[in-house]
Amino acid sequence: MSLFTAKNFINVILPLPLQRLFTYSITEAEVDFLQKGMRVAVPFGKSKIYTALVHEIHQQAPQEYEAKPIHQILDDKPIVNEIQLEHWTWVANYYMCSLGDVYRAALPSAFLLESETIVLKNPSFTDESLLTDTEFLVFEALHHQSQLSVLEISGILSKKNILPLLKSMLAKEAVVLKEEIYEQYKPKLVKYIRLAEQYKGGAALNELLQSVARAKKQHQALMTYFSLEGQTKKPIKAKDLEEKAAVSNAVLKGLVDKEILEFYHIQVDRISFKQAEGKLKSLNEFQEKAFQEIKTSFETKAVTLLHGITSSGKTEVYSKLIQVQLELKKQVLFLVPEIALTTQLIQRLQEVFGGKIAVFHSKYSMNERVEVWNNVLNNKEKAQIVLGARSSVFLPFSNLGLVIVDEEHESSYKQFDPSPRYHARDAAILLSHHHKARTLLGSATPSLETYFNATNNKYGHVSLNKRFGEVQLPEMELVDVKEKHRKKRMTGHFSDRLLKEITTAIEHKEQVILFQNRRGFSPVVECETCAVAPQCPNCDVSLTYHKYRKELRCHYCNYRQAMPLKCGACGSEKLTTIGFGTEQIELELKELFPEVNVGRMDLDTTRGKYGYQKIIGAFQAHEIDILVGTQMLSKGLDFGNVTLVGVLNADTMLNFPDFRAHERTYQMLVQVAGRSGRSKKRGKVIIQTFNPYHQILQQVSTNSYLEMYKEQLADRWQFHYPPYYRVLKITLKHRDLLRLEEASEWLGQSLGNAFTDNVLGPTAPSVSRVRNLYIKHIIVKIPPKQNLAATKKHIEKIKSTFVAIGAFRSVRLGIDVDSY
Ligand code: ADP
Ligand code: ZN
Ligand code: ZN
Repeated sequence: MSLFTAKNFINVILPLPLQRLFTYSITEAEVDFLQKGMRVAVPFGKSKIYTALVHEIHQQAPQEYEAKPIHQILDDKPIVNEIQLEHWTWVANYYMCSLGDVYRAALPSAFLLESETIVLKNPSFTDESLLTDTEFLVFEALHHQSQLSVLEISGILSKKNILPLLKSMLAKEAVVLKEEIYEQYKPKLVKYIRLAEQYKGGAALNELLQSVARAKKQHQALMTYFSLEGQTKKPIKAKDLEEKAAVSNAVLKGLVDKEILEFYHIQVDRISFKQAEGKLKSLNEFQEKAFQEIKTSFETKAVTLLHGITSSGKTEVYSKLIQVQLELKKQVLFLVPEIALTTQLIQRLQEVFGGKIAVFHSKYSMNERVEVWNNVLNNKEKAQIVLGARSSVFLPFSNLGLVIVDEEHESSYKQFDPSPRYHARDAAILLSHHHKARTLLGSATPSLETYFNATNNKYGHVSLNKRFGEVQLPEMELVDVKEKHRKKRMTGHFSDRLLKEITTAIEHKEQVILFQNRRGFSPVVECETCAVAPQCPNCDVSLTYHKYRKELRCHYCNYRQAMPLKCGACGSEKLTTIGFGTEQIELELKELFPEVNVGRMDLDTTRGKYGYQKIIGAFQAHEIDILVGTQMLSKGLDFGNVTLVGVLNADTMLNFPDFRAHERTYQMLVQVAGRSGRSKKRGKVIIQTFNPYHQILQQVSTNSYLEMYKEQLADRWQFHYPPYYRVLKITLKHRDLLRLEEASEWLGQSLGNAFTDNVLGPTAPSVSRVRNLYIKHIIVKIPPKQNLAATKKHIEKIKSTFVAIGAFRSVRLGIDVDSY
């Protein structure tokens, strides 16, 4: 078919930051087959191939260019639905990015093969008979080359249309994509024990028992095995048998050596959870009341806030609401701020909803993510509840009934980089709206904007003010560190008060959580002679000292160097450290309490997929008595045995240069404090500070959310911040400071002409260079009455003029809407 006679076309979304859709031609046969939401492989630019998404099918040839034909159709039915496309369009418009940016963020990368994608052999793939001849050719080539780009493979096969082939090889798990290899799925193996084959059936059992009659322990183990088998009719874990029979592993091994029993392993799948469904806990009267109020609120309000104090049992209320949706055969999206930090919650929900929960998370391997996508797309029961971090708002729901946003105040719901810079809570509310579903926002410390909406009747508002079991909220004590220093009552970074309470807790065999919102040993190393601190060569920031590795690190670009012996500026050997981090606290504790097990939880100790779980597990099993950590500790952990929480220094957060610093400090401190005294005994919280009379610390210690809210709100009104004004931040970056200054001045002026006093900057942020790029910010504030859409349009216009200026073309420009 000649191009000139083409009369059928499609508009597609390319996974690129380009504002427009692109038109390709299709044949008569393809018209009949193609549907909106299917993927097609298309050529773009000189030699590139991309996976594009069909957005429209039509008969209008493009005016400015000749439409190229598509290479290939990649799906036999749509993998993206209409509601999603509508929702993505909203996200793109609202957050001022391209539909392509949203498309790329939404789809698992295995769905987005392109010419540049690097493909590798999957080392654990062995069954070559699964492959077709051509696939085997590619597999062989990867054997010799170890990795190939899609373009190279296309060259080897002298074939243009190879995406379907790769798609098939990915499905067979013969190959993996490069970006995924760091997170390959490792099945967890659990050791089980069973009767050897020859004894199955029961006839020889008596004989068998006779044979071990004289080995008392073995006899005991076997008897217990039979009784367990009779009771549970389930596979028996070796560990359980050891415990129930009160024998050692050596006894079991003895039986295995005699070929009476045998060990085997079952793979515990981390994604498809056990099918068995537990029971919902029955709600107490306060939870029941909240549950009823939420249901009533949902009759008139699409969004409702559940303001429930820490340990009030919000999870149980959520579960009840989920149950209702399951009965209606509706889908549920349960959003959490960070999956890795939510192990406990996942476990609890799994116990109740078992096989109906799918977890969606960017750290999961490609195949796992593809699997969840497909299950949601096909409205499968095993993905009826999706528990996920922010990107799960882009999944192909078709029948959503309820969205729960747990810990809605969490800042990790906002994506800062790359674009789309969306807020998952707000995107979720919109998603829910597209489905005519309901949204529940839950928190003990709601964000100011949510509470504002709830008190202004835009959202429903339900409170839950009693801890489960009616344990009182912990007792709070502010300790004035300045005075303690003066009176010489400090040992390292510990006041006598904190030390005494730690000692008492340990004596009672209770556990302690200590919070210091800084990792590493100490933030800054300084020369005592000339006061120079070693700086990162790539960023405008001092390096952080990590004592254990004896090195200095940059927390912005990960640059590392060995701790110098001398000052780089004057050669003096007198280097001191200023400030302190988790690592230093851990070391001090080990000296103060040599008998006690101390654990540390921060970015440095929780790397890797299961790093975090290991520490949580050890703490839960009471292998750790005192856990020291950063803000990770504040996120929803539930340990019954923690009776003391200590905050080593509450001041750093308060002094952070950000209009939300006070709100965030309040949230963080109340959340960490909430980890104390959750089960029987009332807990204690000790907060060390240089400013015990700071209003925020007073509000934390008296648990006065409302007072904090009113005071902060007054400030926001006075200084023109959200929830009254909207804040849009433009970031410019360039290697060359002069070029950057020129560009940001130009942009600042153009914006100033349009929005006068509501433009702040350009200014350099406190860290004004990162990874060798200089940075400038311009803030545009949008008053309550100013039309949002018109404002954004005008900014877009200024941006296109900016981009058209040759000298500014190399300046990176990012727009962040609601940048807070
Ligand atoms: P929140 O999320 O509000 O901080 P959680 O949901 O973690 O509180 O509940 C706190 C503790 O109380 C958990 O250990 C939970 O299992 C327990 N709990 C809450 N509600 C109930 C209930 N109705 N029945 C039994 N245990 C409950
Ligand atoms: Zn010096
Ligand atoms: Zn750096």
